[in-house]
Amino acid sequence: MSGEPDCKEVSRLLSEGLDKTMTPPQRARLRRHLVVCQTCRDVDAQLAFLRRAMQSLSRRDPGRK
Ligand SMILES: [Zn+2]
Repeated sequence: MSGEPDCKEVSRLLSEGLDKTMTPPQRARLRRHLVVCQTCRDVDAQLAFLRRAMQSLSRRDPGRK
């Protein structure tokens, strides 16, 4: 990823969770894109919501041993 990422790149990075493995400068570019791009903010919010939902589901798992 060089230069400013476009929406396609940003949504791919977010959906694959690659923002966790990015270098600080890369992450800064991604965050900067999110600041100006409502579409990708929506993607980010949806993914965050899904991850939280999945986490609470697995926590609520009735502990099969
Ligand atoms: Zn975008």
